[in-house]
Amino acid sequence: MAALPPRSIADRLAELRGPVPPRHHDARTIAALTGNPGCARRAVLDAAGVDKRALAERIGFGPRFGQSPFAISRGNAFEKLVKADGAAALTTLLRDDLGLAIGEGWGDGAWTDLGSGEREQRYQHTRELVAAAARNPAAQVPLVDHPLLKLDVGGRAAYVEPDLVAFRVRADGAGAEDIATGDMTAHGAREVAAPRVGEPSWRWYLAEIKSFAVIDGRADPVKVAEAATQAAVYVLAFQTLLADLGLPTTQVATEVVLVCPKDFTNTPTATLVDVRRQLAAVRRQLDRLPRIGELLETLDAGITFDLSKDTDGVHVRAAEELGKAVATIDARYAPECVSRCDMAFYCRDEARAAGSTDLLGRAVRDALGGVGTVLQVLALSNACDGDSHGADLRSADLHGTDSHGADLRELIDLPGDADGDAELAEAARLLRTARRARREALREAADRVRQVHEAIA
Ligand code: SF4
Repeated sequence: MAALPPRSIADRLAELRGPVPPRHHDARTIAALTGNPGCARRAVLDAAGVDKRALAERIGFGPRFGQSPFAISRGNAFEKLVKADGAAALTTLLRDDLGLAIGEGWGDGAWTDLGSGEREQRYQHTRELVAAAARNPAAQVPLVDHPLLKLDVGGRAAYVEPDLVAFRVRADGAGAEDIATGDMTAHGAREVAAPRVGEPSWRWYLAEIKSFAVIDGRADPVKVAEAATQAAVYVLAFQTLLADLGLPTTQVATEVVLVCPKDFTNTPTATLVDVRRQLAAVRRQLDRLPRIGELLETLDAGITFDLSKDTDGVHVRAAEELGKAVATIDARYAPECVSRCDMAFYCRDEARAAGSTDLLGRAVRDALGGVGTVLQVLALSNACDGDSHGADLRSADLHGTDSHGADLRELIDLPGDADGDAELAEAARLLRTARRARREALREAADRVRQVHEAIA
């Protein structure tokens, strides 16, 4: 299938979105792209810049999650504390706890805030600061608050603004005692921070301030993984900036400084987190986005996710029409969607209505080797009794009927290739084993109950 040329892709995406401004990506939404890369629905809606939260609300499935106002204000207060007094607490942490050679001779110039102005202007200020630092390699660059970076997401520029501080530090002889690998458990990778042959003797570091607690040196691994993926987006954006300036991308460290409250206090603690794995995942996902043209080719002509209103404030498109449009794009629901995507309640409802095995989670779905619905799973486990190791299921004895009397052959839509058959045969064998084990366990339990009753009598 011939993919649409770039201009047509942009036009088609604008058509899908309707006459409303596109929703901008941020680090959180870019990081979320790595969470469910196989979902065409999300890929199309994100590429078109559709406001997924507003769309879900419009079709009756508004998300019921989000950060509580308490958590947000706690996070803001912690960030303020870390950055107070020219980031005195942060500087101490970086120098004393992580051993980074930072802050000597900074005096009053230790803190530069790039937080004011338009986004493009702030990006240009960040760019100028990095370019100026490159011209004077001997100078340390102080902490830079609110740097703004830019990434190409599906052909559109996305600005990413960290609650993050960047700084340049000498790497010669400096290193970290502990470098976490996303779960805050790996230690002693001191050499990671040291320069390799041909690399600069200093690096830019990015810091991420989070309000979840590190208790006894450990933090919630899910939250650390999310923070690491988000930080990887910033590292990638910084690498893009360096490449844009003709500088080596190795000038930015792939370990980020994660600053969190320690134990049950508000005292900050810092750890270096290695985000190379997350960086590769984000890069891979962003590289896949241009292929959106192929996905667009598969969409019905004329569908729209237009959320615009007329001059009386009335939605131009009926909720039903939007719901039908959403349903035409394949989704790949997983229970994790509930915490990661605004469309989750719609997609979960759809998966429930279809009796999809997606509801059981990725591990179970993959173990079922492509069996799409719970009804098919039950049919397979019931129909293929007897030993069919390696047997072609097309010739297996699918003579049974399900409880509604439907022909099992119709229920089980077998994959057409040999590999599909092998996977399905394995899934059927496992299902039959599980079914037999369950039947035997129930029989044993019933025998025991009967024996107890007989003993009492
Ligand atoms: S909630 Fe729906 S649209 Fe979002 S990633 Fe999951 S399956 Fe895709």
